[in-house]
Parts: sequence; C-alpha cells; structure tokens
Amino acid sequence: MKIGISACLTGEKVRYDGTDKKSEELLETLKGHELVKICPEMAAGFSVPHDPIEIRKEQVLSLSGKNVTEKLYKGARECLEMIMECDFVILKEKSPSCGLHKIYDGSFSGKLIEGNGIFARLCQEHKILVYSETDIEEIRRKTAGK
Ligand code: SF4
Repeated sequence: MKIGISACLTGEKVRYDGTDKKSEELLETLKGHELVKICPEMAAGFSVPHDPIEIRKEQVLSLSGKNVTEKLYKGARECLEMIMECDFVILKEKSPSCGLHKIYDGSFSGKLIEGNGIFARLCQEHKILVYSETDIEEIRRKTAGK
C-alpha cells in the first residue's frame, strides 16, 4: 500500500520546537509499505524551530499574534498533491495542521477541543481516508487487508 504520513511520526525533527514524534509501533506496523512523508508546516515555509501556532475562530495564529492562515493553507495544498494517490494517510494528533479528532483551542493554554487541523480538513474535503497515530488498531487491520 501507499500511505501518507506526518513526517514527525517517522522521526523527522520538523515540529515547531525542533523535535519529532517518532512512533516505533507505527513504523513497525507500516513495514513493507510505501510511505509518503508530508509536513504541511515545512511545505508552508515555516522554519524549525518556529513560534507555536494554533487555530482560533478559523484563523491560524502564531503565539506572537501573526496571522499565518494563508501560509499554512499553501503548505497544506502542496502536501495534498503529494498524497492524492495514497490509500490512506496517518496524521499527527493535536497539531493545527495535521490534528485529527483533537486540536488546541487557540488560547495557547494547552486546552484541547474537538476539531481537525488545516491539512486534515483538506484531506477530508477531498475524500482521502485519514487516521491519526492513535488509531493504531484500525491501521493494523487496514494494512493487513482486513
Ligand atoms: S505539520 Fe504535521 S508533520 Fe509537520 S511537524 Fe506538525 S504534525 Fe508533524
């Protein structure tokens, strides 16, 4: 299978704070499949590290108050092109770009709300099947053809 995946989940240090969120469990599950690594924030031209960003009332804002909505959409659209042929995509939970199910509420206080990041929304709008790293059991079944 061809599977899109948030680059930080594979060990690339592309997060806003210069770290990764490598998941050995996930990578083990995905062994033998073709992975297409994407990072909407890198594609958008954010440096690493960069100011944290969160979604507030449909706008993406940096901690310092800069409106980066258009910038992030541009990166998200580039990544969408890259994963159009994938069987499904696995995204990093809680991110304002990749988050699926949960994102921070825009107050930079660590409060989570129900919602999806900008890239996750674009994927869903284009009918791309998306999972987050928390959906490991479903991903196992899917890659095993069940
Ligand atoms: S934008 Fe997505 S892939 Fe890039 S660091 Fe954030 S969660 Fe990971």
